[in-house]
Amino acid sequence: MSLKQNLTDLKTHLARFNEQPLGHMINGRIQPVAGKTFANIAPMDEAEINLVACGTVDDVDRAAQAATQAFENWRGLDGSKRRSILHRIADGIEARANEMALVESWDTGQALRFMSKAALRGAENFRFFADRAPDATNGLSLPAPDHHNFTVRQPIGPVGVITPWNTPFMLSTWKIAPALAAGCTVVHKPAEWSPLTASILADICVEAGLPDGVLNTVHGSGEVTGSALTEHPDIAAIAFVGETRTGSMIMRQGAQTLKRVHFELGGKNPVLVFADADLKRALDAVCFMIFSLNGERCTSSSRVLIQKGIYEEFTQAIAARARNLVIGHPLDPATEVGPLINRRHLDKVTGYFDLATQEGATIAAGGRQGQVPPQGCFVAPTLFTDAKNEMRIAQEEIFGPVLCAIPFDDETDAIQKANAVRYGLAAYAWTRDLGRGHRLARNLDAGMIWINSENNRHLPTPFGGMKNSGIGRDGGDYSFDFYMETKNVCMTLDQHSVPSLG
Ligand code: NAD
Repeated sequence: MSLKQNLTDLKTHLARFNEQPLGHMINGRIQPVAGKTFANIAPMDEAEINLVACGTVDDVDRAAQAATQAFENWRGLDGSKRRSILHRIADGIEARANEMALVESWDTGQALRFMSKAALRGAENFRFFADRAPDATNGLSLPAPDHHNFTVRQPIGPVGVITPWNTPFMLSTWKIAPALAAGCTVVHKPAEWSPLTASILADICVEAGLPDGVLNTVHGSGEVTGSALTEHPDIAAIAFVGETRTGSMIMRQGAQTLKRVHFELGGKNPVLVFADADLKRALDAVCFMIFSLNGERCTSSSRVLIQKGIYEEFTQAIAARARNLVIGHPLDPATEVGPLINRRHLDKVTGYFDLATQEGATIAAGGRQGQVPPQGCFVAPTLFTDAKNEMRIAQEEIFGPVLCAIPFDDETDAIQKANAVRYGLAAYAWTRDLGRGHRLARNLDAGMIWINSENNRHLPTPFGGMKNSGIGRDGGDYSFDFYMETKNVCMTLDQHSVPSLG
């Protein structure tokens, strides 16, 4: 794979998007685009990739109706049949993984080296939940002295899935696959800044034989399309991934129709590095978890808390790595950091460089002086030192390749600083002290803790955050808890005395 070859292949894959504006997929058919469209822009050259239909309230209503009509048959289908269809979808993703990777990389600016794996992880998500479909309705046996109680689960109904732009394909499969395996039908509203792979997924689903109306994809803005979905009376639940502020808007919008919500929101995740750690492995992990995926990653470790004795040495090592990163074209296999999603986001991220200086931190690498290609939404991988935990640069999610380094004295101080943010998605810690590893795992306020590791994922485990980072968990059976209702059945053994009145 060379950049030249990737560009040639990309051109072929994008040709269909240039023919006509990208339409919604409703009831198994791509809808002709008659109304308003918006331009989808490439982060690399800021040129228009294609036009996309702006979903209206009517479009969302038609999609919700299609999902409602499809629901009874889909939930009634034997779980093993749902399993076969979901495996065929995974086959389709794998067959088009290279196309997915190139298109998503171009659409998001994320370096291809990460995106190629994201497409395959999407297929894995489908396979994982496919295999659980036959047993999804199973519950617990809860015997009592005179009765037998058992629980069964049933799908909650048509659900809305709203996803962000940072790793759009992987994240949407992480929601859509369990929903379909559970027997729910779906209306998906992908992010307007990276809409392409959602439409490819919709095509793959149709080709794999997913019945009409089971997955519907409606493009458009959050304000109109997303909000119509969250307010729709036929949509039973909303699975949302995005910003914390948007999550609270969705909660308000869904209040009238009592939506069940699952939120995966923002983070300002700490990585704690103790003096006794394996510092080489810790350095690799710290750099990977902030500079991979352009730092546009909810679980990025954007605050590094370093024990005082090693602060200078460790921050110098991070700064050297940051300066050495390969910044460039997202489709170049050598690229480690690509352009940010768009200029608006670039301005937000670089705004924090000015803020860092105003707040009294030092820009030890990158910042506005960092070397970046002249064209495209590039930002230099950046390290802030002399930072204090109370500063805005240490409290707010920047969502770029920007790391804030804060010193700590001891374990108590490290835990206090790690927890003193409004977020609680992930926390990472590096220490050779086993007891301390366990104490940190108990005391850090985050939904996911990695000790001496860097965001390794195992699909049966719960994924999600506490505090302002989310509500609910994905993964394994946790996903089914959201997409399904649990029903208790209580049956008598005919031995208890029934109260007799009147
Ligand atoms: P965003 O909240 O701006 O948008 C996410 C989606 O919500 C988009 O599809 C958008 O159109 C839609 N939306 C916006 N306003 C809406 C409204 N009023 N009603 C309904 N839908 C609406 O987020 P973003 O900028 O696309 O993504 C970045 C954010 O996502 C970051 O905060 C990041 O941490 C978070 N994220 C979290 C996770 C996680 O698992 N916790 C994973 C990835 C990204």
